Amino acid sequence: MHDTGPEPQGPIRMCVVCREHFLKSELERYVCPKSRRGGASDRESGTDGLIPDPDQVLPGRGFYICGKADCRQRFKKAQFGLMKKCKGENT
Ligand SMILES: [Zn+2]
Repeated sequence: MHDTGPEPQGPIRMCVVCREHFLKSELERYVCPKSRRGGASDRESGTDGLIPDPDQVLPGRGFYICGKADCRQRFKKAQFGLMKKCKGENT
């Protein structure tokens, strides 16, 4: 009855701010807002940034943020750079 070490308890994702890897379940997921070309923001979502996906079930490209306060703080600015990637995807 020897353990081979701590096993990952799920998929691993990278924090887009510090680029460290964490269990997906420990991260907060954000997805690209659904926006039409032309730059009109989605007013129904009530946000200009990425959309939080606490259940990690929304379709589309996701970004993951770890729990560190510094990452959360920097993400507020970084998300606008990340959103350019959203618009780069021509779907
Ligand atoms: Zn981080």
